[in-house]
Amino acid sequence: MNLLQLGGAQSTCPWNIAQICEQSRTSARAGRSSITSTSQEIMENDVFKYYSEGEWKVSSSGKSVQVINPTTRKTQYKVQACTQEEVNQVMESSRMAQKSWAKTPLWKRAEMLHKAGAILKDHKKPIAECLVKEIAKPATDALTEVVRSGDFVSYCAEEGVRILGKGEFLVSDSFPGNDRTKYCLTSKVPLGVVLAIPPFNYPVNLAVSKIAPALIAGNSLVLKPPTQGAVAALHMVHCFHMAGFPKGLISCVTGKGSEIGDFLTMHPGINCISFTGGDTGISISKKAGMIPLQMELGGKDACIVLDDADLDLAASCIVKGGFSYSGQRCTAVKVVLVVESVADALVKKVNEKVEKLSVGAPEDDCDITPVVTEFSSNFIEALVMDAKQKGATLCQEYRREGNLIWPLLLDNVRSDMRIAWEEPFGPVLPVIRINSVEEGIRHCNHSNFGLQGCVFTKDINRAIQISDAMEIGTVQINSAPARGPDHFPFQGLKDSGIGSQGSIFVWECCVFYAGLIVEKRMMIMVFDAGFSLCFHVGLSVEKKMVIMLPIQSSPFWIFRKPSLRWHVLMEADISGTIFATDFLNEGRGGSVTLNYFWVWQEMGKLKDGKFSRDVIEAMSENPDFVTSQS
Ligand code: NAP
Repeated sequence: MNLLQLGGAQSTCPWNIAQICEQSRTSARAGRSSITSTSQEIMENDVFKYYSEGEWKVSSSGKSVQVINPTTRKTQYKVQACTQEEVNQVMESSRMAQKSWAKTPLWKRAEMLHKAGAILKDHKKPIAECLVKEIAKPATDALTEVVRSGDFVSYCAEEGVRILGKGEFLVSDSFPGNDRTKYCLTSKVPLGVVLAIPPFNYPVNLAVSKIAPALIAGNSLVLKPPTQGAVAALHMVHCFHMAGFPKGLISCVTGKGSEIGDFLTMHPGINCISFTGGDTGISISKKAGMIPLQMELGGKDACIVLDDADLDLAASCIVKGGFSYSGQRCTAVKVVLVVESVADALVKKVNEKVEKLSVGAPEDDCDITPVVTEFSSNFIEALVMDAKQKGATLCQEYRREGNLIWPLLLDNVRSDMRIAWEEPFGPVLPVIRINSVEEGIRHCNHSNFGLQGCVFTKDINRAIQISDAMEIGTVQINSAPARGPDHFPFQGLKDSGIGSQGSIFVWECCVFYAGLIVEKRMMIMVFDAGFSLCFHVGLSVEKKMVIMLPIQSSPFWIFRKPSLRWHVLMEADISGTIFATDFLNEGRGGSVTLNYFWVWQEMGKLKDGKFSRDVIEAMSENPDFVTSQS
């Protein structure tokens, strides 16, 4: 079976798990062959196809966009330049697919994501190869990115089941002026179609960081990958395709952001945008309509080094933090603020380590590889020249060949230099000598960015005080800034972003809290006494019932039957009719879920005013039963 057949075999009914498992295993075996077999399916005439309605397609534009290899500076790949009409089509199929996906039980969504995560890890090599060619990521880091992404997808599935399966229960008398007459149940509900736009530096990881949370929460997803990194992203999407997600649930449209970006971000079919990148995000936020935005943008992460710091540790973290992937990380250390008394010693140690960094091709796994584009190289060079002209000390000779820029530490940088404030996104690192910690904090807070930062000191009390004073998303104490582990909260203030990433926090972006307010008198309570003295109240209501039933509940009592099941005998007045019901607690966490609308229809089945066990069981099978899926 080739990959095309596998793709074609994907089902619109996603919950035949055995079939999916087998399909995934077969896909994974097939996928191990090489990138070539996958490419045959997703490429035509040397141009990679885009992904829409569960199929790989050639754009009717007849145009392609070149992906330039940063090392060779020659065209490495070509991707489709999608048209507005194709985007419209994607939005429509995405909208349709989301409707049924939202009804797919949470645990089944999780099953599929686990499959996708496993397939992704199984395809790490061919995808990593693309990362090496498209964005000059060192070979080992490229592999790590894919594996980490597969792990994230699985972790997200796991966490999603727990977190999305929970809601809140509020009572009205906690707010002044109210009696306990109302209950409010909140649950997390998908938004609809999520548009995901990741940046070039982590085109796989920062794509799945958006895809997995959106999907597990019941959304559909439209991906617009960065042009540099588009082919790695298409291969990643192919893994989701092989996992058998319903058609239209995931789509991937390619093209230059400058050409189709506005059309995508202002499209009326989009219900949420999750974007990672630079200033582009700020302009998107001004153009997007009334939809939730998650923006992970630039940073100017400051590293404050105090006089009592472990300078060896600080130097190691500064070099790792500042120069990994040639400084092209949002959380790279982008300015060192060191107190004057230890500045000479720190600069010496950092320089010793900088000299040892290997410079060259990503295929050779060098520490410093070419930066992503010629435009970037020119921008970095301009920052260096500005600083040099204004009197900064270049600790190494400035050297550049094509897009390859040798690592450079700039000492004695002052705040009138551009590099003190701007994000080079390259292997050049400014050092500002400060006379006091307060001066360092002031510099950090004066930045328009507020992503991460770090503090090096042996005094934990001072570290915490400084951390509190730094107006940034996250402070690392005695270690370099970093986004991971991927389940930690990650967010920026000011121009660094809106909202949080990190799997246990990311839901806030792609769900809204649906409230269900119920008059207390209408509730049916089921008590689960368990075997302890502590009563646990389980309360489940189906949304549709609130408008249906004017129930006046009267006292109820519980008794225990020899079967060891707890039963609740309840008397209620429904439209003037007194009847008694017998609910079975089937061990579902102490609650029985009733779809009253459905029950209402089934009332004819009640014998002597009692629910039979058959009815209770049938209710559990009701497809509208959405609150206990996890
Ligand atoms: P970018 O130029 O802002 O591009 C990011 C994405 O936006 C790309 O997919 C790009 O597509 C797309 N795009 C461009 N114009 C658009 C438009 N008008 N509408 C919609 N999308 C558009 O950023 P980058 O150079 O790829 O990445 C580097 C930046 O990302 C740095 O500033 C870095 O700090 C930031 N970053 C932040 C985080 C974080 O989590 N805070 C993480 C990583 C990177 P094309 O490639 O086709 O232009």
